[in-house]
Amino acid sequence: MSTTILVVEDEPAIQELISVNLSFAGHKVLRAFDAEQAQTLIRAELPDLILLDWMLPGASGITFARSLRSNERTRQIPLIMLTAKGAEHDKVEGLDAGADDYITKPFSPKELIARIRAVLRRRAPQLTDDIVEVGNLRLDPATHRVSGGTKALSLGPTEFRLLHFFMTHTERVFSRAQLLDQVWGDHVFVEERTVDVHIRRLRKALEPSGHDAHIETVRGAGYRFAVQPQR
Ligand code: CA
Repeated sequence: MSTTILVVEDEPAIQELISVNLSFAGHKVLRAFDAEQAQTLIRAELPDLILLDWMLPGASGITFARSLRSNERTRQIPLIMLTAKGAEHDKVEGLDAGADDYITKPFSPKELIARIRAVLRRRAPQLTDDIVEVGNLRLDPATHRVSGGTKALSLGPTEFRLLHFFMTHTERVFSRAQLLDQVWGDHVFVEERTVDVHIRRLRKALEPSGHDAHIETVRGAGYRFAVQPQR
């Protein structure tokens, strides 16, 4: 499944090598040479994962990792630190700053892709091809099929992504802005009422098997996927 990965690396050759390999693996790649550039990119589009070099000009990777973790909007982004250092205390510092994993340079493209897959599986299951089931509602990302019990359900691409996200993040309430970030990757150029439109379509698509009640409106807050709907 295609994900957007932000590569923050100041060495052009390494940035290029990583980017080429990620593109080849089917990912969309955003590139930055320092934390400031990365911040600008993030403002426009929330990446699904960040590869962050430790040693950067200006703010260090560690400082940037801390600031990502302290910001509400970027707190949840899976983060892998790239480091040339092998010292144990550095690794600990990286994990303490909120990194999900780290890769020591030099690394093979194969290792990089495998680490990314592992972190995504753990932190962002909606970006993997794993089948998701809640009760007898079943979503298969690989074949793009959704079924409720024995009924096959027909969903548009946005409704599919929305349901995938909800089913992998049940019970939590998400605001419209959060859903735009998480499902559309963009909270700047898409209007919030767009979310309402697609929620409506999603409920309609789930109606034939009676699963529409899972999508609950939480007044003044947003939407939630309830495992045990109230109705
Ligand atoms: Ca560097």
